[in-house]
Amino acid sequence: MPDKKTHFETDAIRIQTPTTGEREHSTPLYMTSSFTFESAEHARAMFAKEIEGNVYSRYSNPNTDEFIAKMCRMEGADMGVATSSGMAGVFGCLAGILNQGDHVLASRSLFGSSHQILSQILPRWGISFTYADVGQTDSWEELIKPNTKMLFLETPSNPGLDLIDLEWAGNLAKAHNLIFVVDNCFATPYLQRPIEFGADLVQHSATKFIDGQGRAIGGVIVGSETYMEKIQFFTRHTGPALSPFNAWLFSKSLETLPVRMDRHCDNAETLAGFLGVHKNVNFVKYPFHKDHPQIELAMRQMEGGGGVVCFEIKGGYEKATSFIDNIKILSRSANLGDTRTIVTHPASTTHSKLTEEERELVGITPGLIRIAVGLENSADIVGDVKQALE
Ligand SMILES: *Cc1c(COP(=O)(O)O)cnc(C)c1O
Repeated sequence: MPDKKTHFETDAIRIQTPTTGEREHSTPLYMTSSFTFESAEHARAMFAKEIEGNVYSRYSNPNTDEFIAKMCRMEGADMGVATSSGMAGVFGCLAGILNQGDHVLASRSLFGSSHQILSQILPRWGISFTYADVGQTDSWEELIKPNTKMLFLETPSNPGLDLIDLEWAGNLAKAHNLIFVVDNCFATPYLQRPIEFGADLVQHSATKFIDGQGRAIGGVIVGSETYMEKIQFFTRHTGPALSPFNAWLFSKSLETLPVRMDRHCDNAETLAGFLGVHKNVNFVKYPFHKDHPQIELAMRQMEGGGGVVCFEIKGGYEKATSFIDNIKILSRSANLGDTRTIVTHPASTTHSKLTEEERELVGITPGLIRIAVGLENSADIVGDVKQALE
């Protein structure tokens, strides 16, 4: 394993499980549910944790270990856990740590299923929450209660691409002794590392840019040992382990994360530039586009704007849905972080479960379109969007 002086791109490739006797160059797939012991004494010592090593793949496996080791290095974390989906990770961060009576302060602009966990599942165990609006961070401090234990947020937000100042949030969390959790799925550690700004835990849906090719579902949580120990205990015993096969895919994918993210950012910037001046567009939102009201903050805490662009089409719901229908090359899907560019109409799909008022609060207007920009030639992406707009 490379020492800490190597760079992000090198770590993404060179952090590797030690080779087997076959001297293979690329880490093989360890598709095994359990591991053997050399003797009764060896088994006893492993169970007693006197010797480290793999026992059972719900606990650890060389493929998941490699994936976790890379993610820890990339995010600057002590320890990590890989999960069967991004949502198993979100649930692990919350249920692995919080107790009955605790309260969570969460950004209102959260992924849909995270919203369901906070509002429908955790209250059954006496864990409550309050939403804070991304556009009104002045009021967040007043929302902290004596029993608030955690600050949970996503930045950039989905699909509105509003940003939360991570340094400010980190200081707020520290001042009130809150566990600070960031879902960093939209940015990836290549573009944003929340731990540098005071986050205790960082959570990812590996399904998105980490896999990057639309093949597999998975997640990962990394952070400080204090909290990760609890989360590891929770996930090891409740069982949302990542499959070794998916871990193997994700670790291979991380090798190309930097080059893929550079291209996602380039293509997204080109598309945002095109949309920003189009007569049928009310506004475009992209963290590194000159019209983004928080571009300065974006440049302070992100190293690129990411792969998602949103815009509001003139003509509302009707024009938005006909735009989706007129797309020829790009995909109509609800995913993001794929090689293939995906167009989504959030109001009628990903965010249709919210009331109109709730959508208004997070900026999801009837004419809003989200484009998860892929790795095709940017002229073809812009060309398809242009013909569908016109
Ligand atoms: C997709 C997504 C999730 C959920 O991840 P799954 O892998 O689909 O379970 C959580 N948070 C964000 C921001 C996401 O985009």
